[in-house]
Amino acid sequence: MKIEIKDYCIRCGICVGLYPELFAHNFEEDCIDVLKDPDTDELKQQARDAARDCAVTAIFLEK
Ligand code: SF4
Repeated sequence: MKIEIKDYCIRCGICVGLYPELFAHNFEEDCIDVLKDPDTDELKQQARDAARDCAVTAIFLEK
């Protein structure tokens, strides 16, 4: 599974706060970095939850 964050992400930090294994705030480039491809059932579930929780639906998942 791969995670894509769309450009219209508003950098609210919800995904970073809830799922720090997958997301980090890149302050230098003012964007959210994806730290790794979800490769376990737990991380895949976190990625699905993050996509659901994102305030502006900016997180998309590819299988
Ligand atoms: S939750 Fe969505 S809008 Fe907020 S920082 Fe993460 S990807 Fe961006």
